[in-house]
Amino acid sequence: MDPEATQEIEELKRRNQQLGLDVERLLTQDQLTGLMVRSAFIGHVDRWLGTLKGKGVQSALIEIGIKGMPRLNALMGRDVGDYVISALASRLNQLVDGDRICCRLDHWSFAVFVPRVADALEALTIAKRTILALGEPVEWVDRKIPVEVAAGVALAGTTERDAQTLLIQAGMALRSTAEKGGPGYSFFNPALEKAAKRKQDVQTALQEALDHQYFELHFQPYFQVTTGELQGFEALIRLRHPQLGSVSPGEFIPVAEETGLITRIGAWALVEACRTAANWPPHLLVSVNFSPEQFMSGNLLTDVHNALEVTSFPPTRLEVEITESTMLGDTDVVLSQLTALREMGCAIVMDDFGTGYSSLSYLWKFPFSKLKIDRSFIQAMDSRPQVKGMLKSIIDLAKNLGLKVTAEGIETQKQAELLKFQRCDYIQGYLCGRPVPASELAAIIMTKFAETLRNVPEPVEEPQAKAASASDLRFEF
Ligand code: C2E
Ligand code: CA
Ligand code: CA
Repeated sequence: MDPEATQEIEELKRRNQQLGLDVERLLTQDQLTGLMVRSAFIGHVDRWLGTLKGKGVQSALIEIGIKGMPRLNALMGRDVGDYVISALASRLNQLVDGDRICCRLDHWSFAVFVPRVADALEALTIAKRTILALGEPVEWVDRKIPVEVAAGVALAGTTERDAQTLLIQAGMALRSTAEKGGPGYSFFNPALEKAAKRKQDVQTALQEALDHQYFELHFQPYFQVTTGELQGFEALIRLRHPQLGSVSPGEFIPVAEETGLITRIGAWALVEACRTAANWPPHLLVSVNFSPEQFMSGNLLTDVHNALEVTSFPPTRLEVEITESTMLGDTDVVLSQLTALREMGCAIVMDDFGTGYSSLSYLWKFPFSKLKIDRSFIQAMDSRPQVKGMLKSIIDLAKNLGLKVTAEGIETQKQAELLKFQRCDYIQGYLCGRPVPASELAAIIMTKFAETLRNVPEPVEEPQAKAASASDLRFEF
């Protein structure tokens, strides 16, 4: 600490002693839990590491995160949230004995430092015991509040480390536990550091892409199954960065969602999709993917209005694709926006159906027009005979609810034929057309059209496993 700060603290101590306040305690102890605060913990850990240096001793730092606290605070109030944190802190305090130390690291996380562990297994056993004890429900008045905790573990000893580095590493391990979902614990390993660095690079690239227009939209066609007519295109975003090269949306969309950049990226994609589609024949639709965070931003309806207005694109030609995770958020907020979009004339598509919870209640509670059966389902159809039956049930269910059905990820003629037989409405996939830049759209579609333009009789019985030829389907454009 610099001398000026030390002098100031001493002065503060002197004045507060006169008032009966213990400054030492205020600076080192968390007011809510009575545990050590982060800065004091770091000081202790560094001192320990200094003492143990060169003695061939391994130490462990365990970070413990409490999950779902924002939700608990929102549902039951901050007082209850604080009560839960205090209860867990007191459990932790009881567990930590001997020369081990613990602290309240952040709002919703604790840390434990174990100066001596025999090996990784011992560190893991301590982490496991800690999360089991902390993960017990907390009693509040006449109810039990469920608690979920996860841990990240970093080991010190083999190479030189300091408290800050250990905290960063335990934090990375904790985040990797959280990403896996559910409770549990993970060890830090260099691959996590590499992944964190890559994530940071992608985040920077996203910011630059917005500033310098490195994003591009590709479009993938989808067809009506019975007539083979082209129905429209799904807009799929692409990022080509000067340093990172091409980054897949599977990688950068989650980063954009986590950092909040998705709101600006989504708004850009929407305008670009409508601008491109405004040049197509007027019967063709454009489908745009929306992330859950866009519904939470408060800007979504304004963004849609703006996009339609600046591109003079009719809302009736816009399809909004959302996944089930969107409905897991604040359902009232999402429902009101979806209803407004539907009232404007947009269609609402439930994407990736068959993954996640596939909760049926969403299908009638939310104003969907269409359901998209996930690609993984279509793939499983080839190897697992029972999936065909499930597929048929999903299609029937959707029809009973007045929804249209698209099957995505269609790669083979056999899959296409089966979906045609099962009265699926639309198909999309590499078989009918890969995503292409707007400039290549017409040429690619025309080539596909030439390849597949044949008449095909309506199948009267379920197609058998025979390899059908590409000419068995007919597409018109
Ligand atoms: P999605 O919405 O499920 O899009 C379909 C993905 O499957 C696309 O991957 C597409 O290229 C791929 N695909 C299409 N047909 C086939 C096929 O026959 N076989 C196989 N193996 N794959 C096929 P892509 O373009 O990499 O996009 C991945 C995901 O990124 C999308 O999944 C979507 O969730 C997200 N995404 C893409 N563009 C946007 C966007 O503008 N906004 C948001 N929020 N998400 C987007
Ligand atoms: Ca989609
Ligand atoms: Ca999908």
